[in-house]
Amino acid sequence: MVQYFEEINNWVEKNKDEIASTLSELIKIKTENLPPKGNEKPGQEYLYNFTSKFIDSKNLDLFEIEQIEGLREHPQFFPTMAGMVKEYEDRPDLVAKLPGKKGDRSLLFSGHMDTMPAGKEDWEVFSDPVSGKIKDGKMYGRGSLDMKSGTLSGFYALKCIHDLGIELKGDLYAESVVDEENGGVNGTIAARLRNPDIDFAILSEPTGLVAGIETIGGSDWIAKVAEEGPGGIGTDIELINPIYKLARVARALEKYDKEELPKEKPPKTYRSDMKLRLLTYQFASGGQTYLESGAVPKEGHIYFWLETFAYMKEGEIREKFKNFMEKELKGIKGKMPEFGTVIRFMKGHRTDTSHPAMVSIRNAYKDLGLKYEQRGLGLAMDAYGFKEASNTDVVVIGPKGANPHGTDEYVEMDSVYNLIKMMALAAVDYCG
Ligand SMILES: [Zn+2]
Repeated sequence: MVQYFEEINNWVEKNKDEIASTLSELIKIKTENLPPKGNEKPGQEYLYNFTSKFIDSKNLDLFEIEQIEGLREHPQFFPTMAGMVKEYEDRPDLVAKLPGKKGDRSLLFSGHMDTMPAGKEDWEVFSDPVSGKIKDGKMYGRGSLDMKSGTLSGFYALKCIHDLGIELKGDLYAESVVDEENGGVNGTIAARLRNPDIDFAILSEPTGLVAGIETIGGSDWIAKVAEEGPGGIGTDIELINPIYKLARVARALEKYDKEELPKEKPPKTYRSDMKLRLLTYQFASGGQTYLESGAVPKEGHIYFWLETFAYMKEGEIREKFKNFMEKELKGIKGKMPEFGTVIRFMKGHRTDTSHPAMVSIRNAYKDLGLKYEQRGLGLAMDAYGFKEASNTDVVVIGPKGANPHGTDEYVEMDSVYNLIKMMALAAVDYCG
């Protein structure tokens, strides 16, 4: 049994109400990612104030990410989104450190503060999309699952260790980064460059407490069609119609999803039926309403999301996709559609499962009587940025819930309490 098991278990049990009300407050503070800007600051300040009650200000680091030397030059820094230059003023990362006694093995709990916008659809369980209210043990609100509960859990694990007066040998960190959604990742890169030598990290994106030892990659793409000539309805010219061309592109995308992607063999960490996806998100040409119609348009586009496994190489994927499209669109009239990515090309990540921190994590599960399960996740996220920009390996373990990015997003509070216990126990075992 990990030392301090009883103490840690009891501490979390005793503090459940306080944890829930802190999380509720944090959900009520809107921190939407609104490219090219973001709105994380009030959330970061709330978390700073919360943490300053138990961590010395000299171990609390709230920094503007653009102050980090080498960030803009780093190969993983990606400055734009759909051509818009991202703006990072007033979007600080927050890192809290519980210093160890003698610089032994260090551990980090990582999460992001930004959320997707609440969306236009009505929320049903509680109409307020940032209610932070609980029904049947589930707390609702945008960001409840993705991922304020996970982010806050890391800070509570530090508080637990601090309040119990447990002295660790190695340093223990919790961080809350900005701009992860929409293929951001620049806040994560900044945090890695700030503290590049932390040994291991637990990234608490939602996994239902499964240990995510592999993540997929992916990117948002555009298929762009632009025709020469005046468009319109003229009878003396041939009107090449981008709508028909886009329709052919759409059919080809469907074929790529249904026939090509299933040929990509899933790595062993996934179930054998795991399949990458191509999701077509938007089809646009000739306006949206009747009043905008009345002429053959000259241009149009399709947006889509294309997934990759961690072992696949960016250059090869681009080549393969391009060749497939050229074949499918052969003989097309006028200009060929153009294909390109509109956000960064996110890679997948594989965790070194023989890392000693993974042993500590499994020990924590055992003590808590929780079933330990590890596998690949069908999610793309900033995990790959850890090894690209620092010496920190990372595993993804987060709470249970449903509807991230959708309406009625919620997190199951019991999974949050278990996550905090697991984090604190793993820290004692690993940094102990
Ligand atoms: Zn997330």
